[in-house]
Amino acid sequence: MTQIRLTNTRTRRKEDFVPIDPANVRLYLCGPTVYDRAHLGNARPVLVFDLLVRLLRHEYGDRAVTYVRNFTDVDDKINAEAQRRRAAGSDLSLEALIAERTEETIGWYHADMDALGALRPDHEPRATAYVGQMVAMTADLIAKGHAYEAEGHVLFDVRSFPDYGQLSGRSVDDMIAGARVEVAPFKRDPMDFVLWKPSSDDLPGWDSPWGRGRPGWHIECSAMSAALLGPHFDIHGGGIDLQFPHHENEIAQSCCAHPQAGFANVWLHNEMLQVEGKKMSKSLGNFFTVRDLLDRGVPGEVIRFVMLSTHYRKPMDWTETKAQEAEAVLRRWHGLVAGIEPATSPAPALIEALADDLNAAGAIAVLHDLAGREDAAGLLASARMLGLLLPGMGEWAQADGEAAGQIEALLAARLAARQARDFGRADAIRDGFAAAGVEVKDTAQGPEWSLAAGFNPARLADLARTHGT
Ligand code: AMP
Ligand code: ZN
Repeated sequence: MTQIRLTNTRTRRKEDFVPIDPANVRLYLCGPTVYDRAHLGNARPVLVFDLLVRLLRHEYGDRAVTYVRNFTDVDDKINAEAQRRRAAGSDLSLEALIAERTEETIGWYHADMDALGALRPDHEPRATAYVGQMVAMTADLIAKGHAYEAEGHVLFDVRSFPDYGQLSGRSVDDMIAGARVEVAPFKRDPMDFVLWKPSSDDLPGWDSPWGRGRPGWHIECSAMSAALLGPHFDIHGGGIDLQFPHHENEIAQSCCAHPQAGFANVWLHNEMLQVEGKKMSKSLGNFFTVRDLLDRGVPGEVIRFVMLSTHYRKPMDWTETKAQEAEAVLRRWHGLVAGIEPATSPAPALIEALADDLNAAGAIAVLHDLAGREDAAGLLASARMLGLLLPGMGEWAQADGEAAGQIEALLAARLAARQARDFGRADAIRDGFAAAGVEVKDTAQGPEWSLAAGFNPARLADLARTHGT
């Protein structure tokens, strides 16, 4: 068995991973707020955890890992979209419109993450299904002296938890100085945060001891993780932007509600994704969703490969060049493993790399090495450990066989056109190749062709049809 080592944000050290119960290793990843399509950055924590889960299952057994990722379906943006649909003339109730919006978003999320080869978690709790547990936890925190009610709100009293700020390594006073905190007259301390807040009549709400209202965001994850994994579990993660305040607040709530339990042992945070060196943002015009990329013909497997090529604790830069390089590599590997059965186990060097704080770039270097030695069976077994070259994944690359036939036929048509001095037609075929991403070189031995990174099978098929081949 290989010792897994992970960098724990809580201790700021790379540590040996020792599960609480090796027969049931438990992880929680903060999931999406389901108001719209996932953007490319949202895919990063999903792929990091997917890799971690695959590694843990390899080490501890398929049935010895429980992976939970929630859906946040209590949110102002979801409400706003539902209200917009009502205003636009829908005769459904606000609740029905909210359900409609979250259902469609969850459907998109599943389709998009499936396309990246990410395994579905064992549990995908929706916040709205756990409001009872959130109310109970909030009441318990009041009873234990860690929260108080004020004007229909319930607030967590950060001064009642001496460890507050430990995850981010900052004191409460530093945080107040640095953070944009919502000042409200009813807060005892500006850092106190909402566990429960009132709902107006035109918004969804639940009955509670403090009147009709809805839960704050942070209590959702504390309540759902406790319900599905228990108050003490192994690994909790998300993007580094969640470290403060979201994770800090989750720790405060969970540790105060279950003082003997300790909450998550390891905190794992991925750094952020950028695009072509810039923060992804709508105003810079470089914002796109996973679906935008898939629709542009970038295979999910290529997105996955590019994401895994940068260590999760480093900022990663998505570039068009990286996507093209990844596509060329995967195309070659798919060719190499066609019709081959995988070896019985992945290369030990690959597991070593992954066990060293999920060094996926190191793991990919092992794949290059196997491919270089033409060890197709080893390559296949090892790539699958990374969620690459999975059965059914390479359809985009398999188009090559069909493409080869079309290209050969078009080259024959071009030769015939030249011989018939129909240069217009010969040139049209040449231009069509370029537009479809097929590179043709005329050599003394005849034409040689290769598929460029931007190869477009549909255009090639059109070209083949136009020229009657
Ligand atoms: P959200 O729906 O905004 O709460 O985000 C869902 C997940 O995506 C969280 O784990 C975030 O930390 C993560 N995330 C959001 N933006 C990025 C980004 N640009 N790069 C990496 N992770 C991100
Ligand atoms: Zn969370």
